[in-house]
Amino acid sequence: MTERKIRTKLVHEGIRRSQYGEMAEAMFLTQGFVYPSAEAAEARFLTSNDDEFIYARYGNPTTRMFEDRMAAIEGAEDAFACASGMAAINGALTSQVKAGDHIVAARQMFGSCLHVLKVLQGFGVGVTLVDGTKLDEWRAAMRPETKVCFFESVSNPGLEVIDIAGVAEIAHAGGASVLVDNAFASPIFSRAIELGADVVVYSATKHIDGGGRVLGGVVCGTKEFIRGPLETYLKHTGGAMSPFHAWVLLNGLQTLDLRVRAQAANAAAVAAAVAGHEKLARTVYPGLMDHPQHALAMEQLGSGGTMIALDLAGGKEAAFRFLNALEIVSISNNLGDAKSIATHPATTTHKNLSEEERAQIGITPGLVRISLGIEDGGDLVADIRGALEAA
Ligand SMILES: *Cc1c(COP(=O)(O)O)cnc(C)c1O
Repeated sequence: MTERKIRTKLVHEGIRRSQYGEMAEAMFLTQGFVYPSAEAAEARFLTSNDDEFIYARYGNPTTRMFEDRMAAIEGAEDAFACASGMAAINGALTSQVKAGDHIVAARQMFGSCLHVLKVLQGFGVGVTLVDGTKLDEWRAAMRPETKVCFFESVSNPGLEVIDIAGVAEIAHAGGASVLVDNAFASPIFSRAIELGADVVVYSATKHIDGGGRVLGGVVCGTKEFIRGPLETYLKHTGGAMSPFHAWVLLNGLQTLDLRVRAQAANAAAVAAAVAGHEKLARTVYPGLMDHPQHALAMEQLGSGGTMIALDLAGGKEAAFRFLNALEIVSISNNLGDAKSIATHPATTTHKNLSEEERAQIGITPGLVRISLGIEDGGDLVADIRGALEAA
């Protein structure tokens, strides 16, 4: 049979049916498993196979369905589900380094990722932050002890697009592995593994849920890494995903392609409709020709994605007037949701950075990040244009 396409995999991959033959993915809300005999328990602790479970901190049938479906759509050998995106990122980073090792990471990154790097520095891991869009900076930062190169394929909130193949070539030449946080790109536009990423992490809280209901995260990679150092680290430190969350996320995955493509079409429509507006100093969208990495985005993602950033010329006051005038778009800090969401990074998600740090990564007082939902595109354009008039 030919390789199945992603929409088919999103609906069917990884399903495990019980003896009842249920149509929908079953929720196995159990932390433990019963063994028919003491000998069977002993045998399972010695060598458990893919379809045998011991304890939900490191395996549960519903969670495993989610992991198998994620690995299948990402083109990875295996995946490990985590309690949140940050549990996934912490596990993927910490399981790969020890004191004396070194990490090179992009500076423009989700604040909590920067915090994990700070914690690791406290334990003797060297960290060098670079401008992720400049391959020369990655090359110059490499050291003999560099173990991991870490970045967001599309950065939060500035929407820089990073050259996965380019960074992978530099990392691999230096014996380091490539860790990609793919939350903004979503699994639909990701070709990270094909482009050279060794480990890909998602906050499943975002596009994968798509309804703003549960927290979740997932690490995708080789079987050797996922069932080796990563599982060992996560199973002993307790970042496992709840089977209930896995069940919600399995349902989210079924409509992921439909939602994300509709969201990207809305993002492109809004970006085109507001670009050059007199109230805006900048309209940032990787799908626009004037985006600095437009060509790279088209080549490596094939889409401008679901997020835009608008820099209001009138600064914070104008940004707040704009936010308060929105009628359909909600003010919140999630993203990837079916509902459109606007965020003011300088006063919320990135408030812990100093003004200088924010300026360095393009977070101006007027910057508003918008995650486009699946509402009618014309309604969204009208809402956002109307709010710009009010700004
Ligand atoms: C939200 C987010 C995270 C963290 O995910 P949680 O599920 O909230 O823990 C990490 N990286 C990026 C880019 C994100 O947007």
